[in-house]
Amino acid sequence: MGKFKRVCVFCGSNSGNRKIFSDAALDLGRQLVERKMDLVYGGGSIGLMGLVSKTVYDGGCHVLGVIPTALVSVEISGHAVGEVLIVSDMHERKAEMARRADAFIALPGGYGTMEELLEMITWSQLGFHQKPLAMAPQIPKTSI
Ligand code: AMP
Repeated sequence: MGKFKRVCVFCGSNSGNRKIFSDAALDLGRQLVERKMDLVYGGGSIGLMGLVSKTVYDGGCHVLGVIPTALVSVEISGHAVGEVLIVSDMHERKAEMARRADAFIALPGGYGTMEELLEMITWSQLGFHQKPLAMAPQIPKTSI
C-alpha cells in the first residue's frame, strides 16, 4: 500500500466538455481502489467529483466529503457519497481536507480546483505541510 492511506482529490464540479476528463476521473478512482487508498474530497456528487467519489465508494474504500453548509444543496444532488463532514466555510473545508489527507491529486477542473491546488502548493512552499502534490492526467496535445 505504501505510505499513503488517504488521498485528497481536487477536481471539477462539472464534467467538462471532453471525454478525457471523465475518463481520467474514473481511472483515478479505480487506481485508488486498486491500491486500497481512501478518498478525501470536496463532498459533491456532481461532475468529476461525483465520478471519483462513486468509483472509490463502490470499490469498497472509505470516502470522506468535506463540504460547507452553504454548498450542500448546490453540490450534493440526491444521496451523498460515503461519510460527509459539514463545515462552516471554505477555509475550514480546505484545512480539514489538508489535515486528513496524506497526499493531494488535482484532476481537471475550474477555478475552484485551481484555487484548492494553489493553496496546497503555497502551504507546501511555506512549510506548513510536506505532503506530495500531483496533477493528473498527462493530456496528450492531440486531445486538447
Ligand atoms: P470547480 O473546479 O470550480 O468546479 O470547483 C471544484 C470545487 O472547488 C467545488 O467543490 C467548489 O465548491 C470548490 N471551491 C471553489 N472555490 C473554492 C475555495 N475558494 N476554497 C475551497 N474550495 C473551493
